[in-house]
Amino acid sequence: MPIKNGLEYIESLRNRNLKVYLFGELVEEPVDHPMIRPSINAVAETYDLAVDDPDLGSTKSSLTGLQVNRFLHIAESPQDLVNQNRMQRKLGQKTGTCFQRCVGMDALNSLYSTTFDIDKKYGVKYHDRLVNFIKMIQYENFVIGGAMTDVKGDRSLSPSQQDDPDMFLHVVKRDDKGVYVKGAKAHQTGCINSHWLIVMPTMRLRPEDKDYAIVGAIPVDAKGITYIYGRQSCDTRSMESGDLDAGNSQFSGQEALVIFDEVFIPNELIFMDGEIEFASTLVERFTCYHRRSYVCKTGLGDVLIGASAAAAEYNGISNASHIKDKLTEMTHLNETIFAAGIASSHQAYKTESGNYINDDMLANVCKHNVTRFPYEIGRLAQDIAGGLMVTMPSEKDFRGPITGPLLEKYLKGKKGVSTEDKVRIARLIENMTLGRNAVGYLTESMHGAGSPQAQRIQIARQMQLEYKKKLARNLANIKEGENTSTELLSEPSEYFDRIFGIKNN
Ligand SMILES: Cc1cc2nc3c(=O)[nH]c(=O)nc-3n(C[C@H](O)[C@H](O)[C@H](O)COP(=O)(O)OP(=O)(O)OC[C@H]3O[C@@H](n4cnc5c(N)ncnc54)[C@H](O)[C@@H]3O)c2cc1C
Ligand code: SF4
Repeated sequence: MPIKNGLEYIESLRNRNLKVYLFGELVEEPVDHPMIRPSINAVAETYDLAVDDPDLGSTKSSLTGLQVNRFLHIAESPQDLVNQNRMQRKLGQKTGTCFQRCVGMDALNSLYSTTFDIDKKYGVKYHDRLVNFIKMIQYENFVIGGAMTDVKGDRSLSPSQQDDPDMFLHVVKRDDKGVYVKGAKAHQTGCINSHWLIVMPTMRLRPEDKDYAIVGAIPVDAKGITYIYGRQSCDTRSMESGDLDAGNSQFSGQEALVIFDEVFIPNELIFMDGEIEFASTLVERFTCYHRRSYVCKTGLGDVLIGASAAAAEYNGISNASHIKDKLTEMTHLNETIFAAGIASSHQAYKTESGNYINDDMLANVCKHNVTRFPYEIGRLAQDIAGGLMVTMPSEKDFRGPITGPLLEKYLKGKKGVSTEDKVRIARLIENMTLGRNAVGYLTESMHGAGSPQAQRIQIARQMQLEYKKKLARNLANIKEGENTSTELLSEPSEYFDRIFGIKNN
């Protein structure tokens, strides 16, 4: 039976045969673990949004003819990509953290066109297999985790140059039914909260790396998989009684190290196997989609701006000009992130396979801004919140018969505002800038979808300096001569074509 809402989703995660380690021990039932549960609640919101606001959280799929969760949809128009961004901002606002489903969504969309291209070149059947898989998950309404990042060992070496061949996921055995893979994927968002994982190579590969060019779908509870849960700052606060100290006790992100020990992938779930030249195609298309998915952080930014404004109000400083200016600056930075992401989606164009892909340059600009602006927004939030955010006593002290009344009296803010409300807002700002959800708001912004340098490389590749020099020389009346390279005469890239609408589909 397909999963219909958040509650059914949570129930669908029970009684699975998962091997999850946390604090050195096997977790009996992740769903009931107080440290894990907030991350499950965040994914559940993606189901409830599809019910409460079907235009935003779901859409009709031409593949199945069904109304499907938007996270499982293959983009059929630029508007589909724009709607993904709008949905991501809304879910960021509702959860204040990473809701974990975009990696899967972006993996499906990048694989859709990549498998089509591989089939065209080699006459294989990866695309049909992928479409069958997508139809099944659309029908069942499953969560898909995207497992791209390998542990990578020595970063200066390629997969086959590593001392230990398992630093990148690779095929170690084959039979006529499928392949067996070994290795480990790091920082896997929402993996334990997923139903399926799609494993993909993480970088450009060489001919000697053929066994590393493997893409396939694997059920999360497949034999041979071990999960080791990632710690987040202050995560055990959600295991304490009360909800005040957690800051955001309902929602969190989730990452784990996933170890694959000869995990079987049957032929019908293999979507790439040895076609090394398509590894970089897949990575580039995936990061193109995923880097503008980071508009999710503007939803978190909305929460932090709201928390800062509330903190200022509770302290009686809302009307101070520097506070207004700081809130304006935070909003400007937040909207700048959104502007690039949504513009990238609006500039989407059709691939040969028939689905749509957003603009790569603007996606990289969006993600590059995300590696910087949330830190500045967080700095300003901490400025406005004041030092209490990090020196405040615990909830137990607020509830204690002796300390409670003292804290109530001495930590009070503006007349008419309860001390507890003031404390709650300060804890939320702590949660998002120093605590558990600083993973989702700050460090994930830095490294998720690739560290800053990865975007600079893509931006540099597409910046078309020769074309821009030509523009300048034309206006400066410099004649094309011996000292001007033939590159000067090169035409603008597809990026400019799309900007000026020449190739827009
Ligand atoms: C919260 C979070 C969630 C994530 N979720 C997912 C997920 O769901 N799925 C997934 O597949 N991945 C996920 N990632 C992984 C993310 O894509 C990687 O963190 C990112 O690609 C950087 O890799 P790394 O963490 O191994 O850092 P490193 O590779 O160790 O990078 C550290 C620094 O070294 C530099 N560096 C690395 N290699 C080189 C080199 N060869 N030459 C020069 N400089 C180099 C980098 O630019 C960076 O400055 C997530 C990451 C985070 C933090
Ligand atoms: S970081 Fe943002 S884009 Fe990535 S999975 Fe989390 S919510 Fe989605």
